[in-house]
Amino acid sequence: MKICRFDDNRLGLVDGDKILDVTSALDALPAYRYPLPRTDQLIENLDMLKPRILEAAKSAKCVPVSSVTLLPPVANPGKVVAAPVNYKAHLEESRADVEINHNRQVIEIQTIGMFLKATSSIVGASEGVKVSLPERRNDHEIELVAIIGKKARNVSKEDALNYVAGYCTGLDMTIRGPEERSLRKSLDTFTVLGPWFVTADEFGEPSGQQMVLTVNDEPRQNANTRDLILSVRDLISWGSTFYTFQPGDILMTGTPEGVNRVVAGDTIKATIDKIGTMSVKVR
Ligand code: MN
Repeated sequence: MKICRFDDNRLGLVDGDKILDVTSALDALPAYRYPLPRTDQLIENLDMLKPRILEAAKSAKCVPVSSVTLLPPVANPGKVVAAPVNYKAHLEESRADVEINHNRQVIEIQTIGMFLKATSSIVGASEGVKVSLPERRNDHEIELVAIIGKKARNVSKEDALNYVAGYCTGLDMTIRGPEERSLRKSLDTFTVLGPWFVTADEFGEPSGQQMVLTVNDEPRQNANTRDLILSVRDLISWGSTFYTFQPGDILMTGTPEGVNRVVAGDTIKATIDKIGTMSVKVR
């Protein structure tokens, strides 16, 4: 299943270039009072909701994908975990380009580990990326994103993919410069998720996925997730030795080579075959 959130917090089942409005399935979610759980309720209850989504789809109103505002497919992630320099060719380009490394040693992921992005930076495809510091270099980074489905603590590599609810495309937008990654990658709108998520059962194996990113239809990034230094399995297993992954947590798996700047007016198109194309305007 391809599941999206759109317009006024509606829930959609994506079918080709159409969206079936299955918002009524959300009526099955438990009611909450303050304080709210630090998990995403759609993702945490996805197994319970799936048959209700399919049932609601039978009599659902249908709208073209092109007519809606696409929201981030996960509304309330507790944390956004991201993998730095997780492709060898991107490690090499980062070491070679002073505009990327700012005269700092680019340390390998096996040593430096992962970092966190602010959840306030998350937007859906339709909101677009806002360049609020135009004097700095603002870069695109296409990434395969795994959405954690179940509480995961000290999980083995063999078992790790059983903790994934689904996958979507991510843009880990980045300002180059001397500051910590968590600051440079946490500006408002700098975590674009979408255009929807594909459930793990439909998506299958996360390795071997081709990713293509264009800016104004000009090719910039084109790589395959089989070249990840640490695989999705490795990242979940290793990360879960430090912290507990919760349902709805976002895992950005790292960008391949070809990162480069965008400016206001550009259109980014990010494609992962099994997900589709996410078109994002820069403003
Ligand atoms: Mn990244």
